[in-house]
Amino acid sequence: MLKFSTRRVLVIGLGLIGGSLARALRSRELVDEVVGYDRSRSECELGLSLGVIDRIGEDLEQEVRRADMVLLAVPVKVMESVLAEIKPWLRPQTLITDVGSTKGNLVTAARALFGELPPGFVPGHPIAGAEKSGVGASDEDLFVRRKVILTPLPESDSGAVLAIARLWQAVGAEVLQMEVARHDEVLAATSHLPHLLAFSLVDTLAHEAENTDIFRYAAGGFRDFTRIAASDPSMWHDICFANRDQLLTQIDRFTDGVARLRDAVARGDSQQLLGIFTRAKSAREHFSRILARSAYSPDLHHRPVRFRIRPGQGLTGRVDISGDRSISHRAVMLAALADGVTDIEGFLEGEDSLATLQAFRDLGVVIEGPHQGLVRVFGVGLEGLQPPAGPIYLGSSGTSMRLLCGLLAAQPFDTELCGDEALSRVSMASVVEPLRRLGAQIETAAGECAPLRIRGNPNLKGTAEPFRVASAQVKSALLLAGLYTAEPVCIEQTSPSRDHTERMLAQFGAELERQGQTLCMPSGTRLQSTGLRVPGDLSVAAFFIVAATITPGSDIVLEHVGINPTRIGLVHILQAMGADITLLDVRDAGTEPVADIRIRHAELHGIDIAPQWRALALDECPALLVAAACAGGETVLTEPSSGAFATSARLQAMERGLRAMGVQLTRSQGQLRIQGGPIAAARLDSGGDPRVAMALTLAGLRATGPVAIDGCAAVALFCPEFADQARRIGIELYREED
Ligand code: NAP
Repeated sequence: MLKFSTRRVLVIGLGLIGGSLARALRSRELVDEVVGYDRSRSECELGLSLGVIDRIGEDLEQEVRRADMVLLAVPVKVMESVLAEIKPWLRPQTLITDVGSTKGNLVTAARALFGELPPGFVPGHPIAGAEKSGVGASDEDLFVRRKVILTPLPESDSGAVLAIARLWQAVGAEVLQMEVARHDEVLAATSHLPHLLAFSLVDTLAHEAENTDIFRYAAGGFRDFTRIAASDPSMWHDICFANRDQLLTQIDRFTDGVARLRDAVARGDSQQLLGIFTRAKSAREHFSRILARSAYSPDLHHRPVRFRIRPGQGLTGRVDISGDRSISHRAVMLAALADGVTDIEGFLEGEDSLATLQAFRDLGVVIEGPHQGLVRVFGVGLEGLQPPAGPIYLGSSGTSMRLLCGLLAAQPFDTELCGDEALSRVSMASVVEPLRRLGAQIETAAGECAPLRIRGNPNLKGTAEPFRVASAQVKSALLLAGLYTAEPVCIEQTSPSRDHTERMLAQFGAELERQGQTLCMPSGTRLQSTGLRVPGDLSVAAFFIVAATITPGSDIVLEHVGINPTRIGLVHILQAMGADITLLDVRDAGTEPVADIRIRHAELHGIDIAPQWRALALDECPALLVAAACAGGETVLTEPSSGAFATSARLQAMERGLRAMGVQLTRSQGQLRIQGGPIAAARLDSGGDPRVAMALTLAGLRATGPVAIDGCAAVALFCPEFADQARRIGIELYREED
C-alpha cells in the first residue's frame, strides 16, 4: 500500500459539485490548500470571493505538478480531454479522482490514454446534487449523509482508495464501492432514466395546445414527478451519451412496463392494474426500509407515544379481532409454494407478517395486496422460487427468519437473510443446527446470529432419528425443509407447541404422518392452492377478554377468534379464576377452530396456575398478570423453566408497572405471587414492549384515577387497531405524542 497525501487539492471545474467539495474541505479545515481551476474565469473569481477556494489556479501545468490530489469536476463529456491535458504533469503519487455521473466512459478513455492506469487513480461519484449549477450554488453540506460511490480499478492502490474515501467521509458522506459496470447499470436505472422521463413528461405536456391550463392546474403529482426536469440540460445531454447502452436497456424495460400498464387500462383489467400498483407501492416502501436498515416502520418505533386511560365502566359492543400473526406468516409461505392462486382474508398487516410477504416478493412470487386484509398469492409451486436480487431484509421478524431458513436451505440458489439491529442480536442456533444435520449449509455471523448466508442445497437428506424439538418455529422450519428432502423429515415434539404449520399444511393438501408425538413430512408432498380466512389473534383478543372481565358492567363479543387448543391457555386460566367467558358458534376456519367469544364482567379469585396452562399462554402473560392484580386473594405463577422469570424483560417491565400502581408482587423460588387489591393512579413506562403497554392500559380500567403509560409507540405496529377498538367498546383511551 502506497502513502498518499490530500493536503493540497486542485479542483478542475469549479461548478456546483467541485465548488461544494472545495467549500466542504475548507470550512472543515481538512486540507492545507484548495485551488480552483475552471475554464470560466468568472466562476473562479466568484468562488474566491465566496471563500470556496483559497486561490485561483492560473497555470494548470504548475498546479497539477504541485497538487497532492486532482479532482475532476467538469461535465462528463470533457473528462477525457481534461485528463489528456493534465496527464504529462501527474506525479506517481498524485491522487486523481472525479465526480462524474458515469464511470465506464471515463475509465475507457483513461485506459486508452494511460495504458496502465496510475495507482492514484480512483474514480468516484457523489450521489448528491441540485437542480442548480455553478459555483454560486455550491454548498459545504451538500454531501452530508449522502452516498459517494467509489469505483476502484484493479490498478488502484489501496492507499489511494483509503485516502479518497477518508476525504469524502470527513465531509459527511457515506462511502460505498462498486464495480464500474455495475455503477453505470445501477445509476442508469435509479438516476438517468428518471431524469429522462421527467424531461420527457414535461416536454410532452408543454406541447399540448392547452398547456397553460395543464401547468396552471398541475399540483402534487406532476410537481413531484417533474422536479428533476429543472436540472441542467447540457449535463443530462452528456450523461445520456456517456451511459448510452445501459440507458437504452432501462428505457426498453420501462417501455415494456408502460405497455403492460396501457394494456391493462385498455382492457379494463383491474386485477392487473391493481397488481402493478400494489407491487410498486410495497416495493417502494421496502426500498425505503432497506435504506434505513431499520424495522419495518422505523419512525413509529421511536416516537414518544403516551397512552392515557381513565377508569372504566360497562364496556359493550363487538370487536373484530385482527388476523393471527403466526397464521398470517404461514398462510403466505404455503400459498407461495402451492400450485395455483390462493386468496387470503384477514391477513395481519403488521410489520412481521409484511416482512414475510415482501420476502416472497423478493423470491419472485407475485402477491397482490394486502388491501384491508386481503392478499392474493400467485403460487409458484415448490420449484418455482427465484433467486432474489440481493439480501432478503426481514426487519425484526424472527419468525420470518427461522421459517425461511428451513425453506431456503433446500433451494437450488444461494440467499442471504438479514434483519434490523435487534434481530441481528438474536441467536439462530436453535434452527440452524438441526438444519445443518439435514445437510444445510448456513453461515452465520458471530453467535449464530444474522446475517445468515444460505448456500442452497437441493439435495438435503432426511434423518433416521427424529429431531427432538420443543419450539414451534424450529418444527416449522424443519417441516418446510422436509418438503424438499428425498427421505421423510421426522420430528418428535418434546412438549406441546403451536401447531399452526401442521394445520396449514393440511389446508394446502399436505397431510403429515403422525405416530404419538412424532410427525413426519412424507417425501414427494405437494401443496395445492386454497382459499383461507385467517382467524383473529387470540393473543390480541386476550387484552379485550381481560378488559371486559375486570371492568364492572361489561358484556362484549370478540368475533372470529382462533381457539386453537395450543393457544387457548389463557381462557382456561381465567375461567378457573371465575371469568365469565363463553365460546359461541364454534366452527372451523379451514383447519383452524374459531369461535365468537362473549365475555361478561366477573369477580375473579386468585388461583395457583397450573404450569401446563401457563405454557399455553406464554404471549398472554402480561394480560394475565393484570387479571391476577384485580382478583381477590393470591395468584401464583410458577416459572416454566428455571430462571425464566429472571431473564424475561417483559415480565420485569410488568412487575415494575404493577408495583408502581401499588400491586403487591413477590418473586421467590421460581414463583411469582400476585396479591389482588386496589390499583392506584400512576405514570408508567412500558419499556417499549407493546404487550406490556396494552396490559398496563387495561390495569388503568380499575385504577383509582387516570393512568399514563409512556413508550406505547410499538402498539401501532403490533396491533394497529387496538386504540380504536378499545374506544369503540367504551374504554376512555387517549393517545398523545410529545
Ligand atoms: P457545473 O455546475 O456546470 O460545473 C462544471 C464546471 O466545469 C463549469 O464551471 C464549467 O464551465 C467547467 N468546465 C467545463 N469544461 C471545462 C474544462 N474543459 N476545463 C475546466 N472547466 C471546465 O456542473 P456540476 O453540476 O458541478 O457537474 C460537474 C460534474 O459532476 C459532472 O461530471 C456531473 O456529471 C457530476 N455530477 C453532477 C451532479 C449534479 O446534480 N449536478 C451530481 C453528481 C455528479 P462552463 O460553465 O463554462 O461550462
